[in-house]
Amino acid sequence: MNKINNRLEELTSNILLDNDMYKIPVDILKIAKINDIEVYEGDLDKKISGAIRYDKENKKFAILLNKNDSAVRQRFTIAHELGHYFLHRNILENDEIHIDTMYRMPDEKEKEVDYFAGALLMNKILLEKMYEENTSITELAQIFKVSISAMTVRLDVLNLL
Ligand SMILES: [Zn+2]
Repeated sequence: MNKINNRLEELTSNILLDNDMYKIPVDILKIAKINDIEVYEGDLDKKISGAIRYDKENKKFAILLNKNDSAVRQRFTIAHELGHYFLHRNILENDEIHIDTMYRMPDEKEKEVDYFAGALLMNKILLEKMYEENTSITELAQIFKVSISAMTVRLDVLNLL
C-alpha cells in the first residue's frame, strides 16, 4: 500500500507557496527557472525519459528532456528531475549526471523522487479540492496536465480512489 509521505507533501507545498505558484496547472518550467536550472530537449532514445546534469565548472544544473515524449510526460520528467535536485543535490554534484530510463528498477531513491514529482504536480490540498468537483480521473488529469496513470497513482496515494 502507498502511504502519505508528510515530509514530501510539506516540501512540495512550500516550493509552490514560496514562489507564489499555489495554483493549477503548476508551472513546472518556472520552478526550474527560479532555481537557475536550464531545461533542454533532445532527440533521445525512446527508453530514456530524461536526465539532470551538473556542470561543475559553472556550478549549474541542467535538465534534459526527450523531445519525442508527450507534453504531460515531459512535465512529469521535469518534476522528477527537480526531485533529484531538491532531494539529492549533493549526490548530483559528485556524479555530474543522472539519467532516467523508462524500464529502470525503481529503487528507494527513484520512488522517493517520483513521489516528489507527483506531489509537486498534484498538490494534496489543490487536488482534494478539485476532486470534490470532478469525479472523472480523465478530467482531473487534464486540469493538472498530467497523464492518467500519474493521476491514478496520486489519487491512490491520497486514498481518493
Ligand atoms: Zn530519477
